Amino acid sequence: MLQPPSPALLARFVAIVGPAHALTEAHATEPYRTEQRERFPGATPMVLRPGSAHEVSQILALANEARVAIVPQSGNTGLVGGQVPDKSGNEIVLSLDRMTKIRAVDAEGYTLTVEAGAILADVQAAAEHADRLFPLSLGAEGSCRIGGNISSNAGGTAVLAYGNTRELVLGVEVVLADGRIWEGMGSLRKDNTGYDLKQLFIGGEGTLGIVTAAVLKLFPRPKGQAVAFVAIADPAAALSLFNLARDRAGHDLTGFELMPRIGMEFVVKHLSGARDPLAAPSPWYVLMEISSGHSDEAASATLEDILATAFEAGVVADAAIAQSLADRKAFWHIRHGMSEVQKPEGGSIKHDVSVPVAQVPAFLTEAVAAVEAFIPGCRPVPFGHLGDGNIHFNVSQPIGADKESYLARWEEMNALVHGIVGRYHGSISAEHGIGRLKRDLLPGVKGEVAMSLMRGIKAAFDPNGILNPGKVL
Ligand code: ZN
Repeated sequence: MLQPPSPALLARFVAIVGPAHALTEAHATEPYRTEQRERFPGATPMVLRPGSAHEVSQILALANEARVAIVPQSGNTGLVGGQVPDKSGNEIVLSLDRMTKIRAVDAEGYTLTVEAGAILADVQAAAEHADRLFPLSLGAEGSCRIGGNISSNAGGTAVLAYGNTRELVLGVEVVLADGRIWEGMGSLRKDNTGYDLKQLFIGGEGTLGIVTAAVLKLFPRPKGQAVAFVAIADPAAALSLFNLARDRAGHDLTGFELMPRIGMEFVVKHLSGARDPLAAPSPWYVLMEISSGHSDEAASATLEDILATAFEAGVVADAAIAQSLADRKAFWHIRHGMSEVQKPEGGSIKHDVSVPVAQVPAFLTEAVAAVEAFIPGCRPVPFGHLGDGNIHFNVSQPIGADKESYLARWEEMNALVHGIVGRYHGSISAEHGIGRLKRDLLPGVKGEVAMSLMRGIKAAFDPNGILNPGKVL
């Protein structure tokens, strides 16, 4: 049974990290107990900002002994409420935001060793500085931190070519619930010595242990890239273009993102510095990126070959090809801004779903029709990683509707869309995780066998349930 922390216990926590790194004032803890979707406002008596795995270890040993809940937090950019405390005021937030060191970059071994609080963009930059690529890329990369990326098995736009975060981690250092430190910082590419424990912490959402450092996989940095913004009639045509591009480019196809017209309208209206790259409106768009191990010219040649074939086949209506690095960045800026531009349009009911890639067009037709019949006037803004079958099926409120009463139908609309996802044998959380948002949906989609295995794992790693309680399970 978890306990509220006593004043004496709080004083012992302060002694571990030092008074400057134990926040208690409401204004100081505010950024750590609220999240961007404003769905899970929390309370906490204290935010601890340890500076080392050793301090994390001391905090957890003490919390475990006293049966006090700890909520690990990294960049606080999660979308499912997994990183914020509940409203009880009994949960301590443990932020990794002081542990930002990049410990080593091994260009020859293609690895990078980093502390959990490093910002993703800084990790990318450190790799680039050594003429290497760390491919993980997502909208929040300027503020999300690698520990959170690992704990949520973050996806993003490079999964198509390089895989999820799970595929990018070679080793982890983890502090367990009882304070023991597991040094799993191997950098081996092949290691078949029993259960692969690190995989439990990747995507574990901080419920099994706190990742404090990791060894990441690096890749050769592409020597050239080419990006096109393509006008397309419908998702079926986008799928044809995807299959053609994959066939021609193979592993050099490093980006393939689908966006609807309404998303472009929102971008032009609300995203500063963005403009529509194409002259005429199109019902759908694809952002396609080709990389090359040789040069920009080689990447462009592949891209142009794909587009020429697609034009001839009537798959593509029009396309803008980036002429400069600035153009390429501007095209990606549109895609990465697709989430935030929905906020000024009022309430948005979100779904982060995946279906088999070939089923995306049929799923979209069915799901769009279903939500439009459910709430007439609602505005579906489905976009995302077509090449991974992962669609952010977000639905904006009807123009002029009351935001609160629209959002009150969140669960009903989720049930409707997730029902369709289920018929396509898809997932109700493709890349954002479970957190609190989808916790109660998990038993319904995993089944009894998987749920009892997960509960057994949780009990083995955290018998007193102090780590991120109420999340995932
Ligand atoms: Zn995404």
